[in-house]
Amino acid sequence: MMFSRLSFCAALALALSLALGRTAQAQNSAQNSTQDNPAAWLTRLFQPPAAAPVPGPGTGEAQWSGQSGASGDPRMTADAIRAAAADFPNCIAGLWPLAERRGITRAAYQRFTAGLVPDLSIMDKLDAQPEFVKAPWDYLDLLVSDDRIAQGRELLGQNAPTFAAVERTYGVDKSIIAAIWGVESNYGTLGGDRPVLRSTATLSCVGRRQDFFRGEFLAALEILQRGDIPPDRFVGSWAGAFGPTQFMPTTFLRYAVDFDGDGRRDVVDSVADVVASTANNLKTDGWVRGQSWGYEVVLPQGFDYLLAGSARPMTVRQWQSLGVRRADGKPLPRPADRASLLLPAGARGPAFLTLGNFNVIMKYNPAEAYALAIGLLADRMRGGAPLVQSWPRDERVLTVDERYELQQLLAQRGFRIGAPDGLIGPQTRFAIRDFQTSVGDIPDGFASSEVLDRLRQR
Ligand code: CA
Repeated sequence: MMFSRLSFCAALALALSLALGRTAQAQNSAQNSTQDNPAAWLTRLFQPPAAAPVPGPGTGEAQWSGQSGASGDPRMTADAIRAAAADFPNCIAGLWPLAERRGITRAAYQRFTAGLVPDLSIMDKLDAQPEFVKAPWDYLDLLVSDDRIAQGRELLGQNAPTFAAVERTYGVDKSIIAAIWGVESNYGTLGGDRPVLRSTATLSCVGRRQDFFRGEFLAALEILQRGDIPPDRFVGSWAGAFGPTQFMPTTFLRYAVDFDGDGRRDVVDSVADVVASTANNLKTDGWVRGQSWGYEVVLPQGFDYLLAGSARPMTVRQWQSLGVRRADGKPLPRPADRASLLLPAGARGPAFLTLGNFNVIMKYNPAEAYALAIGLLADRMRGGAPLVQSWPRDERVLTVDERYELQQLLAQRGFRIGAPDGLIGPQTRFAIRDFQTSVGDIPDGFASSEVLDRLRQR
């Protein structure tokens, strides 16, 4: 599902909903351990509005469809959503003890939650199911475009002293930070305009991810109480990711820094704080100073494609001994580093050796397609050349329904794929490889229309 660990193709499905930003990452992080602790008497402390209406037509707000969610979760039926919305004031009042434990004052809690009404349009987003999946090349065309490269260079140029100071302090490549900025929010233009407190409050009380989002709601309250972000600037994606590099409230609390020294960690409007906080996040996650994320490589004739995948890292020296070379002809540095072979489009597309820093980018947003886009965009901002190898653009990308069918056919033939979910993750790719081996095809694990046709015929 969307919120399980994302495969390359799952990421492609998410590609156009960039406002989603780091939601997937946040969803993947450790579940918040807060417990439900409703205290009915607390409802008296607050004077919630008598009704919590769904915003009517003409308010300019996104409207909830009124439909049950596609996940089938009992908390996502239309009736359950309406019931939870009606109970929203009680739910918010019941969260006060958790807020108090975080050091939120009662006055602040009342001030920030007064008049809060749920934004039910978020429920449609929470259960959105992609119908079509973008091809890797379409995703990369979109994110590593000439325009985005030029804007990134402009951003770096206009803020050169800041980026240089952050790079010196944290050791994280400034072009990677600029690329994250450019991809997460399209350079700040698509970061979302929903109030973070309202979104996280809604998700804390309505729908199927309440435990997780309560941690985000409480973190959002902390941010507001400390005054790091002014309430009117504290806006973001439906899931509560905010600022040009889309911090979630909890990730903000872990990583945000006040780099310009004004006493606030303003990852919305201070370039210095945005750049340094994002760098601090990557550094804390293990970024190695002075190293690349990886390289485009070419593979020799007769290469063993079973060696591909993040589960099979080897040293750069071992890859070289197998005939793997950099596509631009330059030598591969640091032969002792461990690297994995990434084949986003199978044997017919470009190949990449990915290093430890690639995995660090994936911690920021857990999708190979995302990490590759960030790495390639950063390379281009530095003046790097476009990819040497071409994508198999004639390849027809399978729809989600076809992916289900592919998985079901694999399962019927005894290949282990887990539960069919329409997303091609590592397990499905392994199964495709086993199937390809069994029929004498090149086992690259790529879910092509040819593989589906083969399975249908057998
Ligand atoms: Ca600051």
